Amino acid sequence: MNARTEFVVGEAAMLEYGIAIAKQMRRDELVFLEGELGAGKTTLARGILRGLGFAGHVKSPTYTLVEPYEFDTQRVYHFDFYRIKDPEELEYIGLDDLLGERAIKLVEWPERASGRLPRPDRVVRIRVENDGRVVEQTIDDRAATGNQG
Ligand code: ADP
Ligand code: MG
Repeated sequence: MNARTEFVVGEAAMLEYGIAIAKQMRRDELVFLEGELGAGKTTLARGILRGLGFAGHVKSPTYTLVEPYEFDTQRVYHFDFYRIKDPEELEYIGLDDLLGERAIKLVEWPERASGRLPRPDRVVRIRVENDGRVVEQTIDDRAATGNQG
């Protein structure tokens, strides 16, 4: 386990933080993005996607539960389980199959997936503080030593 905490001020800095994370990511990482509504989880996901090389629009998956991205040789699933009411919705989107793919999985509100997610490789906890965000990252050793490509 490897933990680090930073104070990140402003949306642009949050995007940069995500871009930096993307550079160290394994290509099939499971990443939990935790924090209250408005913390900056989607902003961070946008930065990560940008850092991975995605140049298009990243919309919040709040209503669809998952947004898929495929570009270059990279596949990314961006989940948001905020609106989950029934675990059957997870079956409906084919969660288990998506988790088994060689893709990066970014998950907002992982705690609402009622224990259906495996242990994450990386957890990013975001907390609002004054005009910025305290961003705490915990990286599992599997991800830290992971091989790119
Ligand atoms: P969430 O997905 O956690 O609900 P969003 O990513 O939608 O949050 O961000 C909510 C708001 O917080 C947006 O207006 C965004 O620009 C702002 N924001 C994100 N990160 C930061 C930051 N580090 N400092 C200040 N504002 C931020
Ligand atoms: Mg969000």
